Amino acid sequence: MLEPRSGIGYDVHRLVRGDGVWLCGHFIAHTHKLDGHSDADVGLHALTDALLGAIAEGDIGTHFPPSDPQWKGAASHQFVRHAAKRIGERGGKIINVDVALVAESPKIGPHREAMIAAMADILNIAPSRISVKATTNERMGFVGREEGIAAVATASVMVPSDD
Ligand code: MG
Repeated sequence: MLEPRSGIGYDVHRLVRGDGVWLCGHFIAHTHKLDGHSDADVGLHALTDALLGAIAEGDIGTHFPPSDPQWKGAASHQFVRHAAKRIGERGGKIINVDVALVAESPKIGPHREAMIAAMADILNIAPSRISVKATTNERMGFVGREEGIAAVATASVMVPSDD
């Protein structure tokens, strides 16, 4: 019998001078880039943790240790695909995902549809099952000072009951 499970993920990466940011699998030209071991896509990292959380299989760091050089500069869709594959291997499926980006800049609105299309491709689910939202931090704190971008994600999945 399949039962619903849900997970949450949070991530933040520092902004440094650069040519653009990867957010939710979509590249946006910008005055800064996100700093990190991989491509630092906070949206996909939070999403990966939400998917892994839904099946109680640890977090992105346990599956892809930042100390491992093979993930240096890695495209983060690999992390999401891995989490989705684990759900599939357990006989489950993704019901929906929701990602909230917290950033002062760049503006997310014009890129929302492209982000949803990118994640639909990565997860192999319908775009109608994917939500991307964005808010500023009202110029408060590290996000407000544009020192970094944060993301929160949730995922709902159906998986076979195992107890
Ligand atoms: Mg991260």
